Amino acid sequence: MSNHVDTFLAQLEQRNPSQPEFLQAVHEVLDSVMPLVLDTPRYRDAAILERLTEPDRTIRFRVTWEDDQHRLRVNRGWRVQFTNALGPYKGGLRFHPTVNESILKFLGFEQIFKNSLTGLMMGGGKGGSDFDPKGKSDAEVRRFCEAFMLELFRHVGEDTDVPAGDIGVGAREVGFMFGQYRRLRNAHTGVFTGKGTPWGGSHIRTEATGYGCVEFCRLMIESAGHSIEGKSCVVSGSGNVAQFAAQRLIALGAKVLAMSDSGGVVLDEHGITHERLEWIKDLKNNRRGRIAEYADQFKGVTYRESTEPWDIPCDLAFPCATQNEISKSEAETLVRNKTIAVIEGANMPTHPDAIKVLHAGGVLFAPGKASNAGGVGCSGLEMAQNAGRLQWPSDTVETHLYKIMASIHDTCLEHAASAPQLPKARPNYLHGANVGGFIRVADAMLDQGVW
Ligand code: NAP
Repeated sequence: MSNHVDTFLAQLEQRNPSQPEFLQAVHEVLDSVMPLVLDTPRYRDAAILERLTEPDRTIRFRVTWEDDQHRLRVNRGWRVQFTNALGPYKGGLRFHPTVNESILKFLGFEQIFKNSLTGLMMGGGKGGSDFDPKGKSDAEVRRFCEAFMLELFRHVGEDTDVPAGDIGVGAREVGFMFGQYRRLRNAHTGVFTGKGTPWGGSHIRTEATGYGCVEFCRLMIESAGHSIEGKSCVVSGSGNVAQFAAQRLIALGAKVLAMSDSGGVVLDEHGITHERLEWIKDLKNNRRGRIAEYADQFKGVTYRESTEPWDIPCDLAFPCATQNEISKSEAETLVRNKTIAVIEGANMPTHPDAIKVLHAGGVLFAPGKASNAGGVGCSGLEMAQNAGRLQWPSDTVETHLYKIMASIHDTCLEHAASAPQLPKARPNYLHGANVGGFIRVADAMLDQGVW
C-alpha cells in the first residue's frame, strides 16, 4: 500500500514543488483512502484522487493599500477553489505573514473533507493574504480589507464561493470585506459567513468551532468511559477557537490550566475561571494585547516565553492555535503524562509522526477535519438562514450544531471500523474522518460526470 501512496506523492510533489504543508495534508488522507480507491474501480477509473488534489482554480492577485503614513504597501492575496461538487466553495480567509500557496492549499484540501463530513451542501476552498493585521490601526485594516475585496469580489458570491474568517480574520475584518462587497455589487447577500448578527450573521457562529470541538471531545471520551467534568485541560492559542473551547470546557466543569499565544504560555494552576476568560477575550479581541499580560493581572499565574504548553500534565489537550504545533517528542510527553485525548481545534496542529505516537500510546485522537467542523457546520446554517431571509434563535442553532457534531462522530466511528486495530481498542478517528469525508464527495463527483 505504501508503494502506491509513495508513487502518488512523488508525482504530486513534482507538480507542486516547495509545498510541504499541502503534501503533508494529502499524505494524511492518502494513508486512509488509498486502499478504498484501489479496491473500488469506479473511484480508480475516474481518477478521483488525481482530480481532488488539483484545485478547480487558484486565483492570485496583488493587493495595494495605503498605510497611515500615506505610503503605498503591496501584499499578495489568494483564493484556492478546490471543488464545488457538494455546494458552493466554502472555507475561511487567513491573514498572517506566513501565508503562502502551500498553506492555503493544505487548508483548502482539508476543507473538502471537513465540509463533506458536516452533511451540508458546501464545497471546499480557502484563501487569504500575507498581510499581518498585528500592530495595524483599524483604519489600516479597513483599507487593506477594502483593497483585498476590490479583486476578490469577482470570484465569490452566495452560490459561487462563500468565505469566512480564520487566523487574523475575525468580526472586524469580515465586516470591512462584506461592506466593500455590498458597495461593489449593490447587493446584500450571504456572500460571507461569520457576519455580525444584526446584518445577517447566525447566532452561535462565533462560538461554534470551540463549542463543537468540546462536544466532539465529550462524545469521544464518553464512548471510552470518561466524562469531561473534573478533567484538567490545556488549550493552546487564545483566539476565537481557543476562547470558546475554554468557555465550553469551564461550563462543563473541566479545569482549564493553560492557554497561549505566539509569544508564550500562561499557566493558571487553579484553573481559568469564566471571569478570567472574559478578561482574556477583552485582551485579545478588543485591546489586541499579548497573553503575557494575564500573568501581570492575576496572582498565582506563571508565564513563559515561546514554548508550547504540551509538557503541562493534563487529561485533555486541545491544540487550537495553528498547524504542526505538536511534534513527535511533545506527543511522547503527552503519552508519558497519561493524557486521555488530544482534540484538534486548529487545522493539522499535530505532526503525522506525533499522531503515530499518540495512536501507539493509546491516546484518543480527534482530527481537526472532524472535531473543528462545528464552525463551518454553523456557517452552513448561516447560509440556510440567509437563503430564507431568516434568523434562527440561539438555542435552535446550538441544537443543530450538536446534531451535526454527533453525526460526524457517528460517521467517524462507522468508517474507523475498516482501519487496522489500534492499541487499547481505540477507534481510529483519523481514518474514519478521511474515509467518511472522501466517499460523499467522490460519489458526488462520479454522479456529475467528468470535470
Ligand atoms: P485567531 O482568532 O486568529 O487565533 C489564533 C491563535 O493562535 C492566537 O492566539 C495566535 O496568537 C495563535 N497563533 C497563530 N499563529 C501562531 C503560531 N505560528 N505559533 C503559535 N501561536 C500562533 O484564529 P482562530 O480562528 O482561533 O484559528 C485557530 C486555528 O483554528 C487555525 O488553525 C484555524 O485554521 C482553525 N480553525 C478556525 C475556525 C474558526 O471558525 N475560526 C474553524 C476551524 C478551524 P497571536 O495572538 O500571538 O497571534
